Amino acid sequence: SRKIVIKIGTNTLSDENGFVNKEYLSKLAYQVNELKKRGKQVVLVSSGARIAGVATLGKWALKEEVHYKQALCAIGQVELMDAYRKAFFEYGIPIGQILFTKDDFSDSYRILNIRNTLFTLIDEGVIPIVNENDSVSVEEIKIGDNDTLAAYTAHLWNADLLILLSDIDGIYNKNPKEYKDAVFIEKIEDVNHIEKIAEIGDAGSFGTGGMHTKIQAAKLVNKHGIPMILANGEKENIILNLLEGKERASVFLP
Ligand code: ADP
Repeated sequence: SRKIVIKIGTNTLSDENGFVNKEYLSKLAYQVNELKKRGKQVVLVSSGARIAGVATLGKWALKEEVHYKQALCAIGQVELMDAYRKAFFEYGIPIGQILFTKDDFSDSYRILNIRNTLFTLIDEGVIPIVNENDSVSVEEIKIGDNDTLAAYTAHLWNADLLILLSDIDGIYNKNPKEYKDAVFIEKIEDVNHIEKIAEIGDAGSFGTGGMHTKIQAAKLVNKHGIPMILANGEKENIILNLLEGKERASVFLP
């Protein structure tokens, strides 16, 4: 696969205190640079704005009101991009930020526009970093979670592969964080079937979707012929190892 969309989850991106994990980002930049050297094109979808906002203001900022959340995202998005910019600068790779709302995917003119922007960035050697525009997205125009956003992006860009990096190595028949006897599922050829047989649990503390949104993302891209891999983003060199078949992950095949 040549065109790869990689989504990085909140838990993967932040350290125990909610700060953007800069060491992690520098390892990510290393891997993306390696991919580029091998002729791959990469679009990143990154969560983590709100938690970065909390880390900036302090734990007391952890409020649930909508406007407060949106303000946190405005603060955190800058922190996040600053960290990405520095990490990728080490490899001489410029980054570009694209913030979406649901409306952007709702009509063909807008879709064409976004597609052209993505292509232009890629052609110029830039790594586009996609996120939901959380500071302006009220409920009615929300995509809601970045697994879905990543799936939309993969479809829109005609990607060859979607990789979701989470804090878990794939999907199990039930949440392994609650059940020791959970069984790992490596190859999924019928995502609807998995939905029936597996217990799809909720997200971790700061994650958004849990397994549910990951299954929905798989359905969406599989429908358009794009395979999806769910893997543990915390493992060393995970992206490179995945592509070389050296690491365990769940693969959803169309
Ligand atoms: P991210 O922030 O990376 O998107 P989430 O926290 O939203 O990640 O979702 C991953 C979490 O989903 C896992 O850490 C796990 O606790 C939970 N989970 C629930 N059900 C399952 C399942 N059947 N298989 C694997 N993980 C599951």
